[in-house]
Amino acid sequence: MKTLGLIGGMSWESTAEYYRTLNELTRDRLGGLHSAQLVLYSVDFAEIEQLQTAGRWEEAGAILARAARSLEAAGADLLLICTNTMHKVADQVEAAVTVPLLHLADATADAVRAAGLRRVGLLGTAFTMEQDFYRGRLASGGLDVLVPESGSRALVHRVIYQELCVGEVREESRAAYRRVIEELVAAGAEGIILGCTEIELLVRPEDSPVPVFPTARLHAEAAVAAALDGQ
Ligand code: GLU
Repeated sequence: MKTLGLIGGMSWESTAEYYRTLNELTRDRLGGLHSAQLVLYSVDFAEIEQLQTAGRWEEAGAILARAARSLEAAGADLLLICTNTMHKVADQVEAAVTVPLLHLADATADAVRAAGLRRVGLLGTAFTMEQDFYRGRLASGGLDVLVPESGSRALVHRVIYQELCVGEVREESRAAYRRVIEELVAAGAEGIILGCTEIELLVRPEDSPVPVFPTARLHAEAAVAAALDGQ
């Protein structure tokens, strides 16, 4: 079994789910007392969020690169950045280590294509929905990506940082997300990418008339498949 290296804490609410899912999937595959072999480097999210808001991505990337080097030194064979947004600095992280990075957008695009879909709606932070680092990667994976209109993007972003990342799951926000999903479906989305690792704490498959793609779950599935490759 390969040792996974998780760069987490962004936020820890979703990193905790990664930990649970990686262990459950490993047990499902190997049975008995088997569990995931992994190392976790969990950052202080307040520091990262301030750098994001200030547009100081290179400094945030340096923190993640340092975490990546620590994970490699601790024996990680394969790295995961446990957030969609921070894939903005994926190149900086990859350049800091010799072990591979399992890119979240690639795992997601693979799952969407495997479901036979191409045109998808993307929900995530404003950075993820509006910038090219994530949408572009999905597009190179063969997907046609739609995002909500600007008022809805602001709502989706606000709920992530002000509620989900501090452990609040509110019924009214679930209803608001449902409306945004309906907008995307009306615009032609055949599936919805829950492109922020906390959104799957709020939105369930039954909240959408089309299939949803929960990125933390899909990332964990791809990681376990890679860790157990050949086992
Ligand atoms: N976990 C979130 C994501 O997947 C947002 C938090 C962050 O900015 O990293 O994008």
